[in-house]
This record gives sequence, C-alpha cells and structure tokens, in this order.
Amino acid sequence: MAAPTISPTSDTKSKVITTFLDKPTFSCSRCTAVIALQDELISKAFSGRDGRGYLIHSAVNLKMGKKEDRPLMTGVHTVADVYCMGCNERMGWYYHKASDHTQKYKEGKYLLEREKLVKENNWTLDDEPQIGFRTRGVYGHIVIRVNVVLVAVIQCGWFT
Ligand SMILES: [Zn+2]
Repeated sequence: MAAPTISPTSDTKSKVITTFLDKPTFSCSRCTAVIALQDELISKAFSGRDGRGYLIHSAVNLKMGKKEDRPLMTGVHTVADVYCMGCNERMGWYYHKASDHTQKYKEGKYLLEREKLVKENNWTLDDEPQIGFRTRGVYGHIVIRVNVVLVAVIQCGWFT
C-alpha cells in the first residue's frame, strides 16, 4: 500500500490510520487512507450525490462537516458531509436523523460515495510486513499480561 499523503494541517497529522491488520477494507481512492472495514457494509443499493453509494455501519479517518437538513430521495434527513482526514476529499455523509420513521435505521450510519472508495483486500504475495506487525502485537499483549500478573503477585504479598 502506498503511503498516504497527509495534508500539513495540524489536525490531520497523527490521526490517519493506515492499516486494519489484514482485514479487507475500503480506502480513500485519492490518498489510500483506510475508511471502513468491508465487514461494516450494510447495503450497496444506495444513491450518493453523484452516483451509487454504500451504507456503512461505521467508518474511520473521517471529519464531520456541518449538520444540515437535506431532502434526499427517501425524505428529509439531517445529515453532515464527511471528509477524508488524509486528503479532505468529500466522501459522503453521516445520517444524524431521518424524519420518516421507515428511514430511522440509517441514523448513525454513513453513506459513502462508491467512486471515492477503493476495495483493499490485502491479497499480497509478500506477507512479511503483516506477519511482523502481528508478531509484535502478540508480544506486546504477553508483556502487558505478565505485568498484570506481577502486580497481582506483589499485591497478594503485601496483604498476607
Ligand atoms: Zn483521502
């Protein structure tokens, strides 16, 4: 995966997440920042502003724009446009509220423009960096657990 182009504005510097281990993801088509796990996809049968859209349960690396009431095909919704943290591209919108009861299931979800997303399945031949990352993760976990056990042992010692 190419390194994401991070804009020099201060609020975007350290927030861009670039990997979700080896899970299939949707990434920004412009800067490759990870936007959502493919597992979070609810429906592909939505309309974005200019084309097809995906309804997605949760997303990362997105900045929320201003809330506004917008008439959509299925009625008026309170939405906020969302922008990629990596490159400020408008990716779609977030549903704050739906006025129609039949549309309530969209609240708290994201509508992302299909053309702004790239599917990343991480089917690479060179697995080396991912294996390295995983190994460090497991090692870190073991170290933390050992520390917890040691603290427990020390505390038991004090109280007996
Ligand atoms: Zn981007």
